Amino acid sequence: MEGSVSPHLFSGSTLDGYTSGVWHASALLADRVKAVRQPYSGATVAELQDQVDAVDLDRPLGDTGAALHEVARLYLDNAVWFHEPTYVAHLNCPVAIPALSAEVLISAVNSSVDTWDQSATGTLIERRLIDWTAGRIGFGPDADGVFTSGGTQSNLQGLLLAREETLAHIEEDRATAIPKLRILATAESHFSVGKSAGILGLAADAVVGVPTDDSGRMDPGALAAALAGVRRDGAVPMAVVATAGTTDLGRIDPVDAIAVICAEQGIWFHVDAAYGCGLLVSTRRRHLLDGIERADSVTVDFHKSFFQPVSCSALVVRRGETMRRIAVHADYLNPRTATVPNQVDKSLQTTRRFDALKLWMTLRTIGSEQIGDMFDAVVDRTRDAHRLVEADPDFEALTAPTLSTLLFRFRPADLDVADCDTLMPALRQRLFHGGQAIVAGTTVGGHYWLKFTILNPNTTNENLTDVLNLIREIGREMLGRNEIAVVMA
Ligand SMILES: *Cc1c(COP(=O)(O)O)cnc(C)c1O
Repeated sequence: MEGSVSPHLFSGSTLDGYTSGVWHASALLADRVKAVRQPYSGATVAELQDQVDAVDLDRPLGDTGAALHEVARLYLDNAVWFHEPTYVAHLNCPVAIPALSAEVLISAVNSSVDTWDQSATGTLIERRLIDWTAGRIGFGPDADGVFTSGGTQSNLQGLLLAREETLAHIEEDRATAIPKLRILATAESHFSVGKSAGILGLAADAVVGVPTDDSGRMDPGALAAALAGVRRDGAVPMAVVATAGTTDLGRIDPVDAIAVICAEQGIWFHVDAAYGCGLLVSTRRRHLLDGIERADSVTVDFHKSFFQPVSCSALVVRRGETMRRIAVHADYLNPRTATVPNQVDKSLQTTRRFDALKLWMTLRTIGSEQIGDMFDAVVDRTRDAHRLVEADPDFEALTAPTLSTLLFRFRPADLDVADCDTLMPALRQRLFHGGQAIVAGTTVGGHYWLKFTILNPNTTNENLTDVLNLIREIGREMLGRNEIAVVMA
């Protein structure tokens, strides 16, 4: 119907509905957050499943307010709140408020940064931020990169570039060469490395484990030996992956020494700094990333240590021309003859959110130094956490922290290791369902450890003491009630 306006679609004629909808959502959120006292409600899967299943998706409520109230009950009342200081489980951060303002704009304008004609300045802002990040890494003017959905996609793309670069420099045809390609990484590297190898069509044994030193960092001597072994077997080293901030121990592989070996042997060097990228803006700990400027590709997750809302992440490469090997052109979108910048040439995604604006708003509002200070603060806090655990006879830490994770366990003097291994996962489960604090858990060397991942600068030593006391209380209760036997049965 000519002249009619769809009242629920964003446009210049529906701004009243738009502003009231956004206002209503933020007011409802503020109202709920004011009442939040702990990271989780403690609801079980079954309880929430029933509530979600009870909604009839074919009978709309017809009103944003009514739908929001339903969502508040379903989602907000049982959300896991990363801003709560006793949420110390995974690599999730409380988010920078300027980035949330950016989210409002990104979603409503709905730019897509795949092509210039769907984003205009959006493309230029993203490119400036890639250049800025490349500068922080220490790359020269040839650097390039692209925002991605996360570290997983960044690692995949880094390894895709490595595959193409390697294949371009060997004589064999692709079908013969691909099964011979090898990626060298430690067992501590992120599981997306192995996943990527599969997606890239590499052999099942394509990822070669490089031994670590006692602290869990890649041993450069062992890397050299592993590379020699790969070549002896007639295989071809395609990439070495160093991790700058391993997910469990927060360890940083010796980037500089590894870079030297890769440069000597002409092997693609990828640094997975999904977690450790916050060090790029640290005033006190930037040196921990020394050598990263010699990498061929770097993964950075702004949605981890730059306090950005999910998703906000990038892959940055030292030589931008390496990205050209993966460019694919479509006449309707990004023709070969285009004279404008089309980011889709460099991306695995097509339609893509303008997530870069969140980082832009954060840098323009609070600046990079404050981001670095916040990351330094969580690293400091984790050292305190280590001291607290070490000083408490009921607890033990696996090792001293590097970044902001700490592996520890509740192990009173009379509890043997086997019983402790059985108790810990059950204890963690119990803690989660209490909702007052959330910690992670993992297995190292066959033993189960609890894990603090501290990414909230507002978490205090008092909060951490509270969490330890809560764990002690639950642990004692479980031991006293002899639930070990039940758990083991
Ligand atoms: C989190 C993480 C990833 C994966 O990043 P996502 O953003 O979750 O996809 C990759 N590598 C490391 C070291 C990580 O900590």
